[in-house]
Amino acid sequence: MTEKLPTLVVASHNTGKITEFERILSAWWRIQPQATLGVTAIPETGLSFIENAMLKARHACRETGKAALADDSGLVVPALGGAPGLYSARYSGAGDAANNALLLQNMRALRGERREAFYIAVLVLMHGPEDPAPIVTEGRWYGHIADAPRGHHGFGYDPLFIPQGETRHAAELNHEEKDRMSHRGMAVTQLLKRCRE
Ligand code: IMP
Repeated sequence: MTEKLPTLVVASHNTGKITEFERILSAWWRIQPQATLGVTAIPETGLSFIENAMLKARHACRETGKAALADDSGLVVPALGGAPGLYSARYSGAGDAANNALLLQNMRALRGERREAFYIAVLVLMHGPEDPAPIVTEGRWYGHIADAPRGHHGFGYDPLFIPQGETRHAAELNHEEKDRMSHRGMAVTQLLKRCRE
């Protein structure tokens, strides 16, 4: 009964993220990536994940006239002063494999708890560009950075990220396992709860 579902524009061009949202949210909304409506990316000028998520959601609402969901997410390594952080997607400027190589290089002298890291996802659901009460949720997934990549699932830094309590790297988890544990999975679960309230 897909045609009865309300449309939700996803304010992202990241195919990894769009796939994860489709997988988790398609029972409740008809997910429409913003690119399919001709919306182009805006500069992410905020100084925090929440500011960037707000900017992206408002832009998609304004351009499409529809409700929009934005996610700003990234990997934070406290021992690197929070890097790659807001710049996770463009850390090396040359894509996921080069980002992972640069992270390993920058962490080569770090051992033990100095290799701790967490993923964060902030979600913003706005009903229109002037929605005064957007729904905002956040998830954090704690773990540490391995010495070498492993696994072929997921995207981004997943080959290097070992979640707390796991021996497998995030890229070795299947989709269901990642959705159940991840920062995005947690933030989406809270979003669905808030939408039902
Ligand atoms: P954004 O599109 O500006 O939010 O950038 C998000 C970036 O953070 C991605 O391009 C990845 O580098 C990283 N990231 C966020 N979530 C994940 C994840 O679930 N797995 C791996 N990398 C992620």
